[in-house]
Amino acid sequence: MNFCSSCGSAVSLTIPAGDDRERYVCVSCEAIHYTNPRVIVGCLPVYEGRVLLCRRAIEPRRNFWTLPAGFMENGETSAGGAARETWEEAEAKAIDLQLYRIFDVPHISQLYMFYRCGLEDGAFGAGPESLESALFDEADVPWDEIAFPVVYKALKEYFDDRRRGEYPVRVSSIERLKRPPA
Ligand SMILES: [Zn+2]
Repeated sequence: MNFCSSCGSAVSLTIPAGDDRERYVCVSCEAIHYTNPRVIVGCLPVYEGRVLLCRRAIEPRRNFWTLPAGFMENGETSAGGAARETWEEAEAKAIDLQLYRIFDVPHISQLYMFYRCGLEDGAFGAGPESLESALFDEADVPWDEIAFPVVYKALKEYFDDRRRGEYPVRVSSIERLKRPPA
């Protein structure tokens, strides 16, 4: 952030009185501009035992497969956002949403929330951010072409849970990948 969204003056990074971390503070009107983590909401849609994945039409990770997910919008619930993303990316109506997986990704200040859900009438398509969508049995999932580690992990856990017949809600953190020593 370079300029105050209230008055247009420059901002500086300082610790406001009574606070414990740096914030962008306007040098003119003294408005404090807080930035907080972003929430990504998505679905793990299942129809007749198969999981719906979308092949990304956009960067990052174009051509790779993912679960429908995206940034939560103001004024919606997390489940509502997950269903909206499923409609936008896979033209599928998510039903019976159940919270399933939370990932904290603190080094990029993101929180992921995935809901298990059904698919109304088994219908789906491909929205503008997807090249195609498809239903996969476990053996047919393109495991080497999954776009993001959180999606890979959630899918693996889902198929394991299904074998056990229970779907506990899990919360864990994804840490920054360490560079190999030079
Ligand atoms: Zn200002």
